[in-house]
Amino acid sequence: MTSTRTESSMQDCIFCKIGRGDIPSRKIYEDDDVLAFHDINPKAPVHFLIIPKKHIASLAEAQPEDEALLGKMLTLVRKLALQEGCVNGFRTVINTGRDGGQEVAHLHIHVLGGPQPWK
Ligand code: 5GP
Repeated sequence: MTSTRTESSMQDCIFCKIGRGDIPSRKIYEDDDVLAFHDINPKAPVHFLIIPKKHIASLAEAQPEDEALLGKMLTLVRKLALQEGCVNGFRTVINTGRDGGQEVAHLHIHVLGGPQPWK
């Protein structure tokens, strides 16, 4: 069952709004469970985010029942990185919590790539 707290988080969450299509994004992939879109403030020539449509606040909040979803997100990294032209490799980052530098409280995988020297 979804708690009232989670429901109110989902209402306010910017990535839930992007996932619902309430806020536009430059999508590169979408299915029933997952969305990938370009970061609004890219830190590399290629910089996109992979999010679950389900509101999971961070990696620290993921539950055992999210295992398949997390696996799907990780499996998509390689496929989408290649699709976006990262033929010589890419960086993946998951910031978690305040001390982990997480600014948006909805789980997301950063994928960064393209020619150096953006590192
Ligand atoms: P964090 O620091 O939470 O790991 O990263 C959040 C990322 O989300 C940042 O790189 C930031 O540029 C990106 N971001 C924040 N708001 C938006 C938005 O409305 N649209 C898009 N496309 N990216 C966003």
